Amino acid sequence: MLFNYHTHTKRCRHANGEDREYVENAIQAGMQILGFSDHAPYLFPNTEYYSSFRMFTDELENYAESVRALQKEYANDIRILLGFELEYYPALYEEEKKFLSKVKPDYCIMGQHFAGNEIDSAYVPYMQGTDNFIGYISQILEGLKTGDFLYLAHPDLAGYNYPEEVFQREYRRLCEGAKALNIPLEINLLGLRTKRHYPDKKLFKIAAEVGNQVILGVDAHDPQHFLDTEIEKEALKMVDELGLQLITTPRLK
Ligand SMILES: [Zn+2]
Ligand SMILES: [Zn+2]
Repeated sequence: MLFNYHTHTKRCRHANGEDREYVENAIQAGMQILGFSDHAPYLFPNTEYYSSFRMFTDELENYAESVRALQKEYANDIRILLGFELEYYPALYEEEKKFLSKVKPDYCIMGQHFAGNEIDSAYVPYMQGTDNFIGYISQILEGLKTGDFLYLAHPDLAGYNYPEEVFQREYRRLCEGAKALNIPLEINLLGLRTKRHYPDKKLFKIAAEVGNQVILGVDAHDPQHFLDTEIEKEALKMVDELGLQLITTPRLK
């Protein structure tokens, strides 16, 4: 694997290992570009609210400093980028962008784990109700229109209990919207590795028809994940089977 833009760190409190170990394993795996994209710290207006899967806001600088230091140290071996996996929460997004701009990230990928503004919504895989699902797809498309996102991580994170015709219609709307904006969809290797409900062939069949570009994302939560070549092969098999257009050269906006 030559590049990966989806890498977490232990700051999100559900990933393991030191930042340096991710770099060393990425080099060992033959990567030329390693993008760190930990779950962005988010500014919530209600300071009592606890968001359990992201770094705290006061860890922003430490994260950026660590990645920038590794970037310099390993400059001859690998290109390291500072990024975030970020949600588009409409009411909070402008402030959030200002906040993250303090560390001048190189890129963001969209990982939309909640609809609404997180504080007022359910975790997307557990979300119920067709209207909520339709709203979720609309929210992703609205977020992608900002032009702030390199690609859409796990576009198929939503659960499995919506009526088939709703899935088909809404996933087509998502694929067509992403295609119009020229934003690739991620085949998420963490989902594949842990046999989650994603990557969902239902979505990727439509992506093949629509002609979306797809990109592999390790979604590394452990440095060892970079050395798992079997999962990459499995993903490539899916790309072949469905006739997907895979991005094979690194790109940044
Ligand atoms: Zn995570
Ligand atoms: Zn994610």
